[in-house]
Amino acid sequence: MTIPMSEAPVTHPTELTRRELLTLASAAVTVGTVGAALPAAAQTPPPTGPFTLAPLPYAADALEPYVDAQTMTIHHDRHHAAYVTNLNTALASHADLKSRTLEDLVTNLERLPADVRTAVRNQGGGHLNHTWFWTSLKRGGTPPPAELTKAIEQGFGSFGALKDKLAASAVGVFGSGWAWVSLDAKGQLVVETTPNQDNPLMAGHRPLLGIDVWEHAYYLKYQNRRRDYVDALFNVIDWDVVQQRWRQARQ
Ligand code: MN
Repeated sequence: MTIPMSEAPVTHPTELTRRELLTLASAAVTVGTVGAALPAAAQTPPPTGPFTLAPLPYAADALEPYVDAQTMTIHHDRHHAAYVTNLNTALASHADLKSRTLEDLVTNLERLPADVRTAVRNQGGGHLNHTWFWTSLKRGGTPPPAELTKAIEQGFGSFGALKDKLAASAVGVFGSGWAWVSLDAKGQLVVETTPNQDNPLMAGHRPLLGIDVWEHAYYLKYQNRRRDYVDALFNVIDWDVVQQRWRQARQ
């Protein structure tokens, strides 16, 4: 039987949505994922800008065996991607901030509106740190060029001494964070650490090389052996890139 249009049951969109929501919310309690169970129409898709995730500058397995392909894929495609998405979401209601560079946002945290400061610090820091991390690594690595080597020798005595200090600092980070080679405010090469996704820019320093020691960076392959991961990473550091950053930071 065909129901004439005029007699078709009228379902108010709002009622339908509400009923769906109640049903789904009830079901979601069982599985504990309210967000995932909401109908698509009720979710606002995350903004796709102003910041975007660049692809890895090499294949996911390029740094094998030191960094395994699965870790690299999850690290970039999920962890780094989440920082970008969360940063864009935080900036969605701050149109005036969308044209700023990431470095500028992260450097001037105290001047940001209070309601986005923490998000820029954590998510913006995460985006920046990982962007620089990928581009400072390369299959086979490269040794430090002569000009940078000279500065390293002046600052630390030898390249080996810098590596030892950087590795010890990386291993010594309590919890999640980064170890860095940076230029301090006086233009001196320093080794330092930051917690979470903080960046030396936040302290007025210029980061040249960061070592990610969050467990997501190594746990699949190295489990609790952070020292082994850090030692292995020295096989794939592109010190040509570090020298380029060092030159730019001194200008
Ligand atoms: Mn990471």
